[in-house]
Amino acid sequence: SPIILWFSRDLRLSDHPALDRAAATGRPVIPVFVHDEVVEGHGAAPKWRLGLGVRSFAERLEGIGSRLILRRGEAVKVLQQLVDESGATTVWWTRAYDPDSIRRDEGVKSALTGQGTEAGSVPGHILFEPWTVETQQGGFYKVYTPYKRAVWDREVSPTLSAPSELRPPDSWPDSDDLEDWQMGAAMDRGAKIVAGFVNVGEEAAQQRLAAFARDGIADYDDLRDLPAKDGTSNLSENLTYGEISARACYHAGMRAIDDGKAGATAWVEELIWREFAYHLVYHTPRLVSGNWREDWDKFPWNEDERVAEVKAWKQGRTGIRFVDAAMREMYVTGRMHNRSRMVVASYLTKHLMCHWKIGMKWFEDCLVDWDPASNAMGWQWSAGSGPDATPYFRVFNPVTQLDKFDKNRAYADRWIAEGKSDPHPDALKYFEAIPRRWPMSPDDDYPEPVVSHKEGRERALETYQNRDF
Ligand code: FAD
Repeated sequence: SPIILWFSRDLRLSDHPALDRAAATGRPVIPVFVHDEVVEGHGAAPKWRLGLGVRSFAERLEGIGSRLILRRGEAVKVLQQLVDESGATTVWWTRAYDPDSIRRDEGVKSALTGQGTEAGSVPGHILFEPWTVETQQGGFYKVYTPYKRAVWDREVSPTLSAPSELRPPDSWPDSDDLEDWQMGAAMDRGAKIVAGFVNVGEEAAQQRLAAFARDGIADYDDLRDLPAKDGTSNLSENLTYGEISARACYHAGMRAIDDGKAGATAWVEELIWREFAYHLVYHTPRLVSGNWREDWDKFPWNEDERVAEVKAWKQGRTGIRFVDAAMREMYVTGRMHNRSRMVVASYLTKHLMCHWKIGMKWFEDCLVDWDPASNAMGWQWSAGSGPDATPYFRVFNPVTQLDKFDKNRAYADRWIAEGKSDPHPDALKYFEAIPRRWPMSPDDDYPEPVVSHKEGRERALETYQNRDF
């Protein structure tokens, strides 16, 4: 009888433990992707990018004599129906760790096992299962550095190769047409423009990793903080949708360390930040929904998204060049450099005193590498409400940050057109991408700061010092 392999954020053939296990049985396999309640809740850019990933993955499966069946609806109902239609007796999928996916997967597992179908998840999305990394007291880690020390010397098994063929079922179940799902429908920010910046699919991800390990990783530590340089791997978009495995990245990083490439250690440490995010979200699911440090519930954040400061922040016209360049970069490319993410998050939560959830949600709408765990951790870390956070009183100065990390203004000039006689083409792309409800033009004057560093810093610190928690 067939095995149903349910794919979600694991759109690859290589190093895919559930796929490997299914292929090894020699039984027919029905790969399925479900546009389910979790996908339904995705923001505009992640949903659009996921659609591109699904299309590419379907082609990969065709290359090994298989197909990707597409269905839409509540995961549990869709899978039960597919089991009934196909006579499958087994349903496997790759394990997820964020609360929405866990809730969904537990529902699927109990319903399917309840009706006598073998159903369960297989690891594959991360390197270290969250419950296997424990402090000496038997708890979970709340601080990155000891977490990193605890996992650094662990044995990580080698990667698995892609199956060369996958046995098809005697007859294929019906499939939806991907175009009918309109996964790009909410991309009013110019999907065509963002399309020029994405790197979709397993093959592209493998090429990107190989090129980075060959040419980029050695200089990673020197260049990774400079947003104008292409000094990082840009693999987050592929890791997010599982177009490459964390294990393939990890082994490439470890090989580079063995080869004496200087920047490789710092890069593997970043992969471990990703692990740490999953560790945290698994052990404290409130990471994605509320202040991790609950005493922060009393902090007088502005939670109203409609205020002018929030609008200016989203639109990249706060009058603070680093912030504006970064917000425009995200709008046009679906990505934002890590240094810039820290700067814009700090500005929103400290200078503007707006709740980190507003920022988290906007990122969730705009980023092609949106990841529920890393995004929530990044925001709470920046806001000061999370575990292992920058203390609230340490307020980044976005002006000196620009002087330090974008000395010759290559980044600021790439994204800001106002005041330039010959603006960078990407700066103009920003104006092509913005929706009509944002009436802005490259000929506008560059705005005065909505809140200057000095004013914002003083207000934030005063509020923090007078807090009653
Ligand atoms: P590289 O520097 O090449 O690093 C390699 C990989 O390590 C990345 O692809 C990523 O998977 C992982 N990684 C690197 N830095 C971090 C980090 N700080 N936390 C967790 N994982 C990390 N990352 C996301 O993947 N999705 C998000 O939604 C996301 N939101 C963020 C929000 C904020 C406010 C902040 C401060 C950071 C966020 N990050 C997020 C982390 C980081 O900015 C990106 O992972 C990184 O910029 C991706 O670029 P890269 O692939 O070139 O990374």
